[in-house]
Amino acid sequence: MNDYDAIVIGAGPAGSSLALHLAAQGRSCALIDGATFPRSKVCGEGIMPHGLHALQELGIEPEGAPFVGLRYLLEDGTRAASRFPQGLGGLGVQRSELDAELVRRCQAEPRIDVRLGAWARAVHLPSAPGERASVELGDARLTAPVLVAADGCRSRIRRQAGLEAPLLGAARFGVGAHFAHAPRADPMVEVFLGSGYELYSTPVSAELTCVALLTYREGLARLQGDLEGGLRELLAASAGRAQFLADAPLAGGPVRGIGPLAVQSTRAHAEGLLLVGDAAGGLDPITGEGVSLALVTSKVASEVLAGAYARNDFSARRLAAWTRQRRRAVRGLQRFTQGLLYLSRNHAKAERIVRTLAEKPDTFERLLAVAAGTSSLGSLRLRDGYRLLVA
Ligand SMILES: Cc1cc2nc3c(=O)[nH]c(=O)nc-3n(C[C@H](O)[C@H](O)[C@H](O)COP(=O)(O)OP(=O)(O)OC[C@H]3O[C@@H](n4cnc5c(N)ncnc54)[C@H](O)[C@@H]3O)c2cc1C
Repeated sequence: MNDYDAIVIGAGPAGSSLALHLAAQGRSCALIDGATFPRSKVCGEGIMPHGLHALQELGIEPEGAPFVGLRYLLEDGTRAASRFPQGLGGLGVQRSELDAELVRRCQAEPRIDVRLGAWARAVHLPSAPGERASVELGDARLTAPVLVAADGCRSRIRRQAGLEAPLLGAARFGVGAHFAHAPRADPMVEVFLGSGYELYSTPVSAELTCVALLTYREGLARLQGDLEGGLRELLAASAGRAQFLADAPLAGGPVRGIGPLAVQSTRAHAEGLLLVGDAAGGLDPITGEGVSLALVTSKVASEVLAGAYARNDFSARRLAAWTRQRRRAVRGLQRFTQGLLYLSRNHAKAERIVRTLAEKPDTFERLLAVAAGTSSLGSLRLRDGYRLLVA
């Protein structure tokens, strides 16, 4: 049987969690991914508390290294650290393991037909209400009244549907690797702020630390040709945990790069089509929110689809509710991300802010509550704004 209630392309956190939500509603779907799992993915691998909560709602308790907050570091050794509010915690977890666990859950669900190692290339998107979407996979033709593109930051479906927004601002790139290194009981994600780049280090198990570098085109150009050597040089010139990692052995594969990041969509819906996760428009990873947001918003997308099934209406008009609700869910974090990106381009200001946060931990705590998903940007006090502005 090749007719489904939905076809989901991409079995990363966005696609697989959406498939699980649809199955819980009694809907059938085909979940297609070109990769076979476990597969690796360039990522900082820090899951924020609200992302962990979304996983727990799906009955998933991934194994990893818990963290309780964030620490920013400058070259001169200045550090500002804070914990999440209300004793909340995040989790450092290898994406190869987290994504494989989500896919395993989908495989165990009879309503989800998981097809791995199958790149969706011939995709027909509906152009009129009532038309079905279809995907040709080998000899099979899969059809459904709605197609969900969860195919990541370089989404082909987003381009095919003409929904890719022009890149605004300077393009950003990511580089990631794992190092065999066991930090001594240090449950913090550490962020080293360099000039024109940031280095994240997240313990993901007792023996492994994930490193993610975020930089601009010029920064990437300096690394090209020798990603590993370039990354090690930046680690050696940093401070704190990142500096220790400079000589640690690589684990679990070579250093890899990806980008441009955070490409946006003009809208996250069309006739018989939803874009979810990074395909709908990623946040710059500077806030470490991508996976959490994908998990939290896929539930919202499944609720919009529940309304569409109830009325058997998959028109762009009905699915527009998803674009509106997604924008509402993402708005606060998007502003927060833009603020951090401004600092990433203004190193002197970023250094002053880290010093302010080191001296004013209450402001840092309230900022972290926004990142943890427990408070909105509106919860920041006037004095927080003042401290950050005058820094
Ligand atoms: C350097 C860096 C650091 C990051 N750090 C963090 C962090 O610390 N915390 C955090 O939460 N987020 C982080 N992110 C963001 C996070 O990785 C993404 O937001 C997240 O992976 C989005 O999930 P997704 O399911 O939308 O897409 P993905 O995880 O990219 O999954 C997309 C899937 O689609 C499949 N696919 C693509 N095209 C096709 C096709 N045509 N046919 C079939 N399958 C297809 C791919 O194989 C892939 O499995 C980081 C990102 C980068 C680049």
